[in-house]
Amino acid sequence: MLYIMVLEEMKVEKIKMTTPLVEMDGDEMTRIIWKMIKDELLLPFIDLKTEYYDLGLPEREKTKDKVTFDAAYANQKYGVSVKCATITPNKQRVEEYNLSEMWKSPNGTIRAILDGTVFRAPILIDSIKPAVRNWKKPITIARHAYGDVYKATEFRVPTNGKANLVFTDKDGNEIFNKEIYDFECPGVLQGQYNKDSSIRSFAHSCFNYAINTKQDLWFATKDTISKQYDQTFKLIFQEIFDECYKEKFEELGITYFYTLIDDAVARVIRSEGGYIWACKNYDGDVMSDMVSTAFGSLAMMTSVLVSPDGKYEYEAAHGTVTRHYYRYLKGEDTSTNPMATIYAWSGALRKRGELDGLNDLVDFAGKLEKACIDTLNDGIMTKDLVGLVEPGVKATAVNTATFIKKIRTRLASKL
Ligand code: NAP
Ligand code: MG
Repeated sequence: MLYIMVLEEMKVEKIKMTTPLVEMDGDEMTRIIWKMIKDELLLPFIDLKTEYYDLGLPEREKTKDKVTFDAAYANQKYGVSVKCATITPNKQRVEEYNLSEMWKSPNGTIRAILDGTVFRAPILIDSIKPAVRNWKKPITIARHAYGDVYKATEFRVPTNGKANLVFTDKDGNEIFNKEIYDFECPGVLQGQYNKDSSIRSFAHSCFNYAINTKQDLWFATKDTISKQYDQTFKLIFQEIFDECYKEKFEELGITYFYTLIDDAVARVIRSEGGYIWACKNYDGDVMSDMVSTAFGSLAMMTSVLVSPDGKYEYEAAHGTVTRHYYRYLKGEDTSTNPMATIYAWSGALRKRGELDGLNDLVDFAGKLEKACIDTLNDGIMTKDLVGLVEPGVKATAVNTATFIKKIRTRLASKL
């Protein structure tokens, strides 16, 4: 009894919040980890104020996916959200969860409503070295997730014949008609498009995020070959930079750097990291997988969706880790890495703190991240990381719950 009273008295006052954080819960193993993180690392220390949306598949089914839209609108209203990984239903999930419809990817819905760009960055620790030895700092990839090959119209040309590119304006006037190729044998055709409005949003998100994180921004296309398509991306980026961001960049001492995509690839490999690399849709798809693999582990990859008008949604880059969840359901011990999900919370809390002028909250985010890194540096880690550490480093694999408890001890000692 006395012991409890002393403990109560010793309790430090919890950190206050003013604006609620939009909290989007999710599915499977990450949903389990979500609760552990809140119970162990957040609620004991923060007067956590969230507006809660359950994006778990059962609730999406129950609300006919309305909950996803409500969550996205709340993100728009309040500005900052934190999201747990969610199942994107496929045929197998429709059966597993007895769904009335194959609901769309929540991430796709939220991205469309916020008109945002996704930025992915790895969490680095000393004992796990990137495959590219000179990379010392994270490389953040921004992918323009709209159009190009992903919305292309394709045709398998069966026989000899002529293909033309034709454009008819809204009044029905044919104002462009040019031969693409006069086929002397079967072949293939593809028509791609993009929109100025989408490229502009992409550019604004990239410049905003560069300012936000005080990092240089690189952008690359193949404009020497693609003299209209890629050239348009290059020109729009330059125009927006000159008009809206040049001064702020100079003030912060950061740069905007445009180069050809092949030159960019060579420079990225030779670089130390520490910048944002903006990529067109296909380049971003491919390069983000390459960069994240070279940095080590998908479980250590953070992700943030940034809208052109500065709304943020923080999450882990990985999915719901289904394989681990099935083991968890069988009562087996699971060692799922919570790092990227913890960083989603710290990122969102830091941003909320910055927007509301709450230094304690900003401080807390930094201490939480430091506690995670300290734990890993002490050789305590989840199973996925143990195989990646440098030879000679002593590392012990623990389960998720133990890992989070070890972080809590280190966090409590910093507060
Ligand atoms: P995943 O959940 O990312 O997991 C793939 C594999 O990567 C796991 O089986 C595991 O490998 C490893 N892994 C990923 N995260 C890990 C972590 N935190 N700790 C340890 N290992 C980790 O991808 P998936 O299995 O392809 O997809 C599962 C579900 O997630 C799908 O329903 C998909 O729709 C959804 N998903 C959601 C999002 C999102 O919400 N943003 C993103 C991607 C996928 P081992 O099994 O070898 O240990
Ligand atoms: Mg990919």
